[in-house]
Amino acid sequence: MFSEYMAYLKETDPQIYNAIKNELIRQRENLELIASENFAPLGILEAQGSVLTNKYAEGYPMRRWYGGCEFVDRVEHLAIERAKRLFGAEYVNVQPHSGTQANMAVFFCSLRFGDTVLAMDLSCGGHLTHGHSHNYSGMFYNIVTYGVDKHTERIDYLEIERLATKFKPRLILAGASAYSREIDFKRFRDICNMVGAYLFVDMAHIAGLIAAGIHPSPVPFAEFVSSTTHKTLRGPRGGFIMTKKKFAKGIDSLVFPGMQGGPLMHVIAAKAVAFAIAATKEFRLYQKQIVKNARRLVAQLQGRGFRVVSGGTDTHLFLLDLTSKNITGREAQEILGRAGITVNKNLIPFDKLPPSITSGIRLGTAAVTTRGMKEKQMDCIAELIDRALRYRGNSRQLSLIKKDVLRLTNKFPLYPELNREKWLRRKRPKT
Ligand SMILES: *Cc1c(COP(=O)(O)O)cnc(C)c1O
Repeated sequence: MFSEYMAYLKETDPQIYNAIKNELIRQRENLELIASENFAPLGILEAQGSVLTNKYAEGYPMRRWYGGCEFVDRVEHLAIERAKRLFGAEYVNVQPHSGTQANMAVFFCSLRFGDTVLAMDLSCGGHLTHGHSHNYSGMFYNIVTYGVDKHTERIDYLEIERLATKFKPRLILAGASAYSREIDFKRFRDICNMVGAYLFVDMAHIAGLIAAGIHPSPVPFAEFVSSTTHKTLRGPRGGFIMTKKKFAKGIDSLVFPGMQGGPLMHVIAAKAVAFAIAATKEFRLYQKQIVKNARRLVAQLQGRGFRVVSGGTDTHLFLLDLTSKNITGREAQEILGRAGITVNKNLIPFDKLPPSITSGIRLGTAAVTTRGMKEKQMDCIAELIDRALRYRGNSRQLSLIKKDVLRLTNKFPLYPELNREKWLRRKRPKT
């Protein structure tokens, strides 16, 4: 019925073929709760795996350094126009290879080395590119950080206002990797206006929610908005930048030739497909379901005695504080992994443990919702997580839980179009 998945690769390079095949099996059989991951539709995988990877196209549509760009020009033009329409942006650059590179272009465009930046602390949910000392952002700029309120565990806008008045940053950065609450971009804008700072919003995690109108958009308020395309937006792995017309030239020339060479045209094609899908009604319903599922999972885990940071979520993700369960984030990640549940350890606000151990884990529902799971399955997942952590010393229990995970994931097949029959009869990979 279907041709064998990656038949040519199997011939050319059996080792890589097998690794990819086992990764597909892993994705199919495990419960993917890593908040930054998702499963891109097959159309997007096809665009990304296409002949466009062969093409050099340094420059921008109609302004290239190479010949033969008429079709890739069309691709990039469509990607830009679709992103502009989707988010209501004045100007878009779709070339950054990743979120990290998108952020670098914004930093280089808006700041001079040594300038002061006010950004969210990594331990309260910020990202490495928001000023970590081992990242360019922390090496080249003077970073001042804001956190969350100790009691509410939400962003404290008065604290940001105080810090902004005191340190006079040239840029204030909003957006996070592990913050579950709605962010008030208008409030950030007002603070920026008070101190004459640029507002830069990194919406990498919540881009899908914003596209669907479920989280307020930063685009009307910020000079610069960066994002990834592979998290809730469910596109290929990559980044993009939205800005105002007056910064368009600056951003373009910093992305290329500033920090990148040839754009990945196959990835840009896949981004264009993702932007088109994100404009559909089905996508809006999908995003709504992600949040419903996250809230249900929160409620179920709270019912089982888990503490959720800030007491809930407005998005696709949340943090579990495992302190009262006497288990570290690192241990929990390892135990859940053995039960077929994939999560990542994560610092919680004011964590007493170091980043390599942590007191918490981060959970997200974007990927399981892509598989079609709804509230009822969230109840089941909460039960599985609870059981796995309770029976953590018991290998037999963990393998029973893994069987339950397999039963659940089999009911919600991932990429069933990829020669499923044959794959179901396969030999299992050794673990
Ligand atoms: C994921 C993420 C990024 C970086 O994305 P990469 O594509 O991995 O470089 C940047 N900012 C935030 C807030 C993120 O969550």
